[in-house]
Amino acid sequence: MRATVNGRHISGAERIAPSEKIDSIAQELIARALRKMNTPEHIMLHIESLRDKPLRSLAALDVVTVNAQDVLAGRSAASRVLGSTGVSMQAVETAIRLLSQGPAPSGGNMRGAIIMDSRTGERLEPDQERGVRVSRFDWSEAALGAIDKKLAEIGLKHFRTREALALATKVVYASGMVAELCWSDEPDYTAGYVASRERGYVRFPMLKQIGDPRGGRVFFVRNDGLNVAALVHYLQNEAVLIDKVGKCCAAIELEAYFNG
Ligand code: AMP
Repeated sequence: MRATVNGRHISGAERIAPSEKIDSIAQELIARALRKMNTPEHIMLHIESLRDKPLRSLAALDVVTVNAQDVLAGRSAASRVLGSTGVSMQAVETAIRLLSQGPAPSGGNMRGAIIMDSRTGERLEPDQERGVRVSRFDWSEAALGAIDKKLAEIGLKHFRTREALALATKVVYASGMVAELCWSDEPDYTAGYVASRERGYVRFPMLKQIGDPRGGRVFFVRNDGLNVAALVHYLQNEAVLIDKVGKCCAAIELEAYFNG
């Protein structure tokens, strides 16, 4: 589902489900588009059969929340985690600068993500205004129930966390992927995360100030012999079903996370 006002993206969501669920999921997604503060002008619902197409199964990344007292401490901790996965400080600084300014060349948010060389900070996505939109991923029904329960046990009840965790799991298992950095463009949602295969999904409650409407996603890649077209194809088109959940750990303090 994708909803827009004046051509501007305001809401979107992805599902993979058995065909008998199409009716109820369509209703759910339309209701979600209409719940937005801005009434949508267009709601697009695209339904596609995945029959005969390969479906890759993945286990969700482990989740941990790292408490940092403010935005500066949060961004510095996120940088440290990215550095530990092999992203250069030059790339980290470029990514943070872009997300804080509005990463589209026109100065606004992008609909999709930046693909960035993890060494040089060079942008590699074919369309810098739009970015690359990850699509065709979802939880299996059993894993969805299990992850909602586990996330609720550590106080994470917002559907955004579950959706971002699914997206990040698909992203980090792309060939050539090193890590992802994300914070939301919703003005009242300040949390963000760094995801990688080694460290899992590391969530920070405050990666931007409340009220700030800028956000985005950066996918850091190893650019030696990377086939960008194949990467974009995997992210946009190949179907991934997350059918196992990982560990979800209670929030810990910054120093405990790095020293523990
Ligand atoms: P959100 O977490 O939904 O507020 O999204 C934050 C930012 O991440 C958006 O401004 C987009 O730049 C990017 N984004 C959102 N959804 C996707 C997606 N499916 N694939 C790639 N990037 C996305």
